[in-house]
Amino acid sequence: MFNKGDKLYSIVGMKCPRCHEGELWRSPLYKMKLYDMPENCPVCGLKYEQEPGFWYGAMYMAYTFSSGALLIVMLVTMLVLKWNLTNILIAVGVTAVIGFSYNARLSRSAWLNMNVSYNPNWKKQNEAREKKKAELRAQGIDPDETSSLTSQGHHGFESDNKIL
Ligand SMILES: [Zn+2]
Repeated sequence: MFNKGDKLYSIVGMKCPRCHEGELWRSPLYKMKLYDMPENCPVCGLKYEQEPGFWYGAMYMAYTFSSGALLIVMLVTMLVLKWNLTNILIAVGVTAVIGFSYNARLSRSAWLNMNVSYNPNWKKQNEAREKKKAELRAQGIDPDETSSLTSQGHHGFESDNKIL
């Protein structure tokens, strides 16, 4: 379940969803630069922010994760440990504060993984793309103006398929 190629590996391990090698974050979490993310994957070059406003979707993930975690803490302290209300509220509050920064990153990681699939052939596809670009350049066409070749497409992997 936690091997390279599995979604959980890249979500929890905070790796690039396409190559499962590049890191999602530039600095460790404890430095508290929460969204310190490179623009592209340092290994395969995947653009992390798929489109403007892409990370709004991650906010829904963050909401889902945090409500889930808080609900679990509440149920366990209430039903299993049978704490009183004050202690339950303290436990929920502490979980929310401690979990906040991790949740911020986990939600982006999960959201990106929902939109981009693992692709062990990324190298070949990048090469194919570069080859195609070189051909176009040879014909006097600027490939960077041709959006279908250069853009990542809505889901990142769509344009990869177009090229092959
Ligand atoms: Zn990558």
